[in-house]
Amino acid sequence: MRTNQPQTIYLSEYKVPAYLVDQVDLRFELFEDGARVHSTLTVRRNPDSAESAAPLFLHGDSLQLESVSLNGSPLGTGEFEDRGDALVVPSVPEEFELQVVTWIEPQNNTRLEGLYKSSGMFCTQCEAEGFRCITFYPDRPDVMACFRTRIEADKSAYPVLLSNGNPVDNGELENGRHFVTWEDPFPKPAYLFALVAGDLVEKKDTFTTCSGRNIDLRMYVEPRNAKKCDFAMDALKRSMRWDEDVYGREYDLDIFMIVAVDDFNMGAMENKGLNIFNSSCVLASQETATDAAFQRIEAIVAHEYFHNWSGNRVTCRDWFQLSLKEGFTVFRDSQFSADMGSPTVKRIEDATLLRTAQFAEDAGPMAHPVRPASYMEISNFYTLTIYEKGAEVVRMIHNLLGDEMFRKGSDLYFQRHDGQAVTTDDFVRAMEDASGRDLGQFRLWYEQAGTPVVSVSDEYDESSGIYRLTVRQSIPDTPGQTGKKPQHIPFALGLLGADGQPLPLKLSGESGEAPLERVLELSQEEHCFEFEGLSERPVPSLLRDFSAPVRVHYPWTREQLLFLMSHDPDGFNRWDAGQRLAVDVIQSLVGAPESAGVEPRLVDAYRSLLQDSELDQALMAKMLQLPSEAYLIELAEQADVAAIHQARENVLGYLAEGLRDELMACYRGNAGQGDYQLTPEAIARRSLRNTALGWLLHIGDQEALALAKEQFRGADNMTDRLGALRALVNSDFAEDRTQALEAFYKRFSDDPQVVELWFSVQASSDRAGQLPQIRQLLDHPAFDWKNPNKVRSVVGAFAAQNLAAFHNPDGSGYEFLAEQVCRLDDSNPQIAARLVAPLTRWRKFAPGYSKQMKSALERIRDKAELSRDVYEVVHKSLAD
Ligand SMILES: [Zn+2]
Repeated sequence: MRTNQPQTIYLSEYKVPAYLVDQVDLRFELFEDGARVHSTLTVRRNPDSAESAAPLFLHGDSLQLESVSLNGSPLGTGEFEDRGDALVVPSVPEEFELQVVTWIEPQNNTRLEGLYKSSGMFCTQCEAEGFRCITFYPDRPDVMACFRTRIEADKSAYPVLLSNGNPVDNGELENGRHFVTWEDPFPKPAYLFALVAGDLVEKKDTFTTCSGRNIDLRMYVEPRNAKKCDFAMDALKRSMRWDEDVYGREYDLDIFMIVAVDDFNMGAMENKGLNIFNSSCVLASQETATDAAFQRIEAIVAHEYFHNWSGNRVTCRDWFQLSLKEGFTVFRDSQFSADMGSPTVKRIEDATLLRTAQFAEDAGPMAHPVRPASYMEISNFYTLTIYEKGAEVVRMIHNLLGDEMFRKGSDLYFQRHDGQAVTTDDFVRAMEDASGRDLGQFRLWYEQAGTPVVSVSDEYDESSGIYRLTVRQSIPDTPGQTGKKPQHIPFALGLLGADGQPLPLKLSGESGEAPLERVLELSQEEHCFEFEGLSERPVPSLLRDFSAPVRVHYPWTREQLLFLMSHDPDGFNRWDAGQRLAVDVIQSLVGAPESAGVEPRLVDAYRSLLQDSELDQALMAKMLQLPSEAYLIELAEQADVAAIHQARENVLGYLAEGLRDELMACYRGNAGQGDYQLTPEAIARRSLRNTALGWLLHIGDQEALALAKEQFRGADNMTDRLGALRALVNSDFAEDRTQALEAFYKRFSDDPQVVELWFSVQASSDRAGQLPQIRQLLDHPAFDWKNPNKVRSVVGAFAAQNLAAFHNPDGSGYEFLAEQVCRLDDSNPQIAARLVAPLTRWRKFAPGYSKQMKSALERIRDKAELSRDVYEVVHKSLAD
């Protein structure tokens, strides 16, 4: 749909559907030049709708209508209206069958919404509003129907024909064609519909559920990927078991299928019984996938599987409730990942993403509540706020209620709403009803956008032994929202004595034994907490385990941060103290003269880290990572990217010089130990080793160069091979960089996923990814504009990770991005709208940058025929 005046849709205007669909019978005739879709809908008026005389309204998009019949009689002109984006039948009985035949062209579908072709196979993506590109339908999640789907296609080209549910029939047809019929007994919204037809190999396994039912598990992939399925299959079985153990959720169909598709806008899709995955989020082998990719795959397989209950059995009433399924399911998958690996490291990763990217979103022009009140294009709301902040909100409920009550609440939610389309409010109410807790004020987390700021000040009175903490919260204004109310914030903290021991937290007036850690519940603008019985001034450890998605302001001294970095019993805060210290040191150098020295205690702190034999290696690996440029920019008032980049480089260089021997010892001490393993310990060792290598190459160390080349050649896994490649690419050894890149490409050129890594290593490097080189990558034969992963690995990586080059003061990076967005907007508006994101934050940057970012946005705005997706992002970003 193209329009210059997209409509805004408001939550407040929600109305129940005028018609309900009980049964959908679909017949797909698939051909090379298109597909004919026969749809038979069993429809009745919704008794809950006030509009008793409403016409039947069905959404449509890019469909060629061939015929419409009502109860078997063809409708003539005047009896229906084909508006292009809708089919309207003004006069219908109370109950009826509607038959619609449409013709579509999947082979020309570059938007990758609805039915399209990827590498010769047919596949679908219907969330959020793709089903209307397949046939006319009331395409809204609160219309739930049972689907029966018959697929017909040429047997030799498309031997595998899949849809949702269980297979119930199949057979041969004329002209070498065949068919398979699928029936899904669970009512579902159209966004969960899926179809796949292709020449795919099948990997089989089984799972026995807690009640003893045997489930067929199948993965379908292109033959070349047959060896890359084992890990995902195993992750699926772990997820199924975990959901039974932790949430009491058993799988319901007889078969569960996963299909890998190369061209996919998103990561993966939870279609009932037939999950479709972006290849990069499901296929993995030791030789081709990094540790991070394995972990991501495990999390995404789990996420999509968990949706079977949190999303499919209980779904969203409307798209404003998207976080109902996404926030809850991200929380569930993060619990799962924490259980499978290191909980502290998982928490650090989640908080890093939130603080770097979601806080930025919350402070930008697209800021919206976890439950938005309006949108133009729902595809633009698959955001970090809906997913990650939404998960944090569920996490806070979990922490406020405790394990047991939270489980009672989730049981009640699933039992009360099974088969329904509901709201975030229904979710919170189930939690309240099960636990008896009042979450009235807590609901503001769903309604108010913006990241709360919690400012803490303290005083210690030696004579009385009282330590007084004053905690104030405020929530910044966001577009369309000012003067916000205080929120209910669980604020976990501890106090440490000078010897590093935790001190008892006895609030004034309390008796009994005082805990060593507690969660203060903030509900007012300001609270004052008095802790008594303290014989020394404590060092506060605030917001332990990142107990709420807020910014904490407290005037920590560097001494205190150094102290917490080595003594805080909370692993997350130990890491956080190191980050705060590094941020403080880097910020003090931004724009400082070259002679300005780096804080020498930082080297000592990192040295103690590297020499700490007690410390969990996975935590050490995280603690050694300097805060990213993106995070430093997020923290800055008026970001001067070049100065931030320079300051960070200086600190990195200073640390690497000062710790050269310790880094070398770390590298050698963490050498490979036998066969490749995916345990948290082995992952931590590889991370430490590759971090050390990267730092040493950063300072041009010759011995490290030799080690990097050796590691690059001899690695038995992608983590180490790519670690060495990345270190070389980001070094000043230009010749070695070129050789390594060539060798890597030669070795993996027939594996699209590894080629994507190869693109992104270059595009995200300020050494190898300056604009002329980026343009060369776009001209590379392996680059493909129609493949979202390729676009992300070059254009996306350049704009989001290669910040010094993207923010080139001459504005060329912005112009480049604007050019690519305009180009992609015609073929794939969803991807185009996502690529715009780095420009939308133009107000955040120093004037020299922001002016040029704004003009790049204006250039996109002025393009003729802008998609609704890009229109919304650009216009909101430029609005006053
Ligand atoms: Zn999801």
